[in-house]
Amino acid sequence: MSRIVRVGNVLVGGGNPVSVQSMTNTKTIDIPATLEQIDRLTDAGCDLVRVSVPDFESAQAIKEICSSSKIPVIADIHFDYRLAVESVKNGAAKVRINPGNIGQEWKVRETVKVAKEFGVPIRVGANSGSLDRSFGLYDKPTALAESALAQVRILESAGFEDIVISLKSSSVSETVSANEYLFEKTDYPLHLGVTEAGFGLDSTVKSSIGIGTLLLKGIGDTIRVSMSGDPVQEIEVGLSILRSLGLRKGVDVISCPTCARAEIDVESLARKVKSWVGNIEDDISVAVMGCVVNGIGEGKDADIGIAGTASGGVIFLKGEIVEKVEKRNLESRFRHWFDELLSGGDR
Ligand code: SF4
Repeated sequence: MSRIVRVGNVLVGGGNPVSVQSMTNTKTIDIPATLEQIDRLTDAGCDLVRVSVPDFESAQAIKEICSSSKIPVIADIHFDYRLAVESVKNGAAKVRINPGNIGQEWKVRETVKVAKEFGVPIRVGANSGSLDRSFGLYDKPTALAESALAQVRILESAGFEDIVISLKSSSVSETVSANEYLFEKTDYPLHLGVTEAGFGLDSTVKSSIGIGTLLLKGIGDTIRVSMSGDPVQEIEVGLSILRSLGLRKGVDVISCPTCARAEIDVESLARKVKSWVGNIEDDISVAVMGCVVNGIGEGKDADIGIAGTASGGVIFLKGEIVEKVEKRNLESRFRHWFDELLSGGDR
């Protein structure tokens, strides 16, 4: 089991729930826009949020961002150790650095000194896009892992062990192999993700396979889905990965693919249900099925379900029909039973 690292009020590793992260894509110096995005990420279920700190003004902006954010804020630093030091002093709950590009050893030691003083962990890691050439003799996954381990050794030699490691490649198989290799070599918590995974469907598929494969093997303590666009999507996909693996509670919406027997618009009703669900943490399943021929049977394990009929639909709880509804009342009656279930009325 991995060791535990504390990031603000979130425990990472040691069998604690796998946390979901994202990263803002606003300018960090635009404090209102950054906080607005962090709020939306928090509402979507984000546990930890990372912000870029490319300059001193951003490191100063971190102060207000950290004090207003409801979730721990991680500072992403490259090259200049002073930005890491300033970010930690201004409230960052973790810093992500690359000791290799921070430069001389004393600069790393200065960063470590402040991180220790403030009880802030450091994430190090390797990305396929910025891999040090000195690891060129290894195959790519091993090179990624060894490059990260070299960074870990720099921190350890500075007396620091409050570390999280990430290995990311834009290749799913490289990400999986690299993390498997690292998992055998260290007990530091691992941050999983497939980097530059694209947008929409591509990112969802790559991230789900890469992160999911590792989590199924018991590897990984915190995850980030990388997706171009609104970062809230990263949280939605990340949480969906965790729910599908039984690693996170939440409402699971099941819907049939539909066929010629379908009597209702399954997709639009399933989307409606999804919008009711929001960030509810109740562990319940909701089935939306096109017809009663197979629908009730296939959805009988669901806590609540609806199946289409020629005149409307039937609502069922654990496979038992509780109401027959006309087409025009389909949504409102289903919502009624859904709310009843959430309030504990029929559980
Ligand atoms: S539940 Fe009915 S409509 Fe949906 S796929 Fe099965 S048979 Fe077709």
